[in-house]
Amino acid sequence: MNKLKDKLLFIEEEINNLKKENRFLIPRVLNSAQQPIAIVDGKKVINLTSNNYLAMTNHPEVKKAAIEAIKKYGVGTAAVRTIIGTMDIHLELEKKFAKFKNTEAAILFQSGFTTNVAVCQTLMSSEQDLLISDELNHASIIDGARLAKSPRMIYKHKDMKHLKEILESPQARKARRKLIVTDGVFSMDGDIAPLPEIVELANKYDAIVMVDDAHASGVIGKQGRGTVNHFGLDGKVEIQIGTLSKAFAAVGGYAATTKKLRDYLGSVARPFLFSSSQPPSVVATCIKILDILLKEPYHFEKLWENTKFFKEELKKAGFDIGESVTPITPIMVYDSQKAIKFSKMLFEEGVFALSIVYPTVPRGKERLRTIVTAGHTIKDLEFALSKFKKIGRKLGIIK
Ligand SMILES: *Cc1c(COP(=O)(O)O)cnc(C)c1O
Repeated sequence: MNKLKDKLLFIEEEINNLKKENRFLIPRVLNSAQQPIAIVDGKKVINLTSNNYLAMTNHPEVKKAAIEAIKKYGVGTAAVRTIIGTMDIHLELEKKFAKFKNTEAAILFQSGFTTNVAVCQTLMSSEQDLLISDELNHASIIDGARLAKSPRMIYKHKDMKHLKEILESPQARKARRKLIVTDGVFSMDGDIAPLPEIVELANKYDAIVMVDDAHASGVIGKQGRGTVNHFGLDGKVEIQIGTLSKAFAAVGGYAATTKKLRDYLGSVARPFLFSSSQPPSVVATCIKILDILLKEPYHFEKLWENTKFFKEELKKAGFDIGESVTPITPIMVYDSQKAIKFSKMLFEEGVFALSIVYPTVPRGKERLRTIVTAGHTIKDLEFALSKFKKIGRKLGIIK
């Protein structure tokens, strides 16, 4: 036992280093369902932190669908998709997502994270390939690029001049395949990738485009079809990634693409071959949410009504809310200690908005990050806004 302790002594030093940088994380704990007003660390708070855009995590019809699926199919598949882990409902959900995204086909993975890893690793399979990535892309794209055999080149955030320079570089010109990867909606700032320009450059220089719509699916475009649809680019982007873990309230991811690429991924993508498939309750949850989303425009409309109201009121109060055009609204603080304090004081007043500091965002770009959902009432948001103003003034963030 002592031996074990001695060999792990260095962890203490690592933790101390993390603590110095505010990077040692002890998350708050949810004691209720994930919902707009939740019990967090035993306290009832207005919850502005989750990705529960459509407020579907605790929806009675959705829960009923999940329970029915458990009754019929049990709780798990106990197999990978390629052995005996493909149930008829997995295929049904893939077809529904393909239709939703206006693509030939779709393929499910265990998370948005593994979907990005799977696609990057599968397509970028040689040192002669080239992966080209926006500098603010999600960590799962960065890790996908690390697991790919190809080299990678990073362009400055949304900088199309820089992307063009990369595409014209000798390395790109001699590449066997080129893959441009971008988040559709960027998760920390809530801004949108300039897809029309990216697609135009990609066509000119013969590159494949992959858009990660984790924060866009169920959120923007017609009925939440995502950024490709938002820009009128249906049929013009080779790969659209979506997650089931945000607006779709459960856990999982998918790539919506051509039938051939879908079948290819299903034969070689490592997370598909070597990690078990999603439990039936998760699949049934997403089928039901997609049905509700298409049948009841109310949820989508309410999400945007709340988003507009919240953003306008924050602006009126004098907060700097960055460049966001989506329900992700950063409240810029530009100081890590102050951002942490802001979040803490809000929590004491019954509002949960998380501070985001280095290394999640660059130093000097510290902020609170808020996401409103379709489930908040205007009264909830007014309560939260009154606390933002009160504490914002106290901390000198607004006048
Ligand atoms: C959240 C997120 C993911 C990961 O999705 P999970 O389903 O939670 O694994 C991938 N990409 C982006 C842009 C995200 O915001």
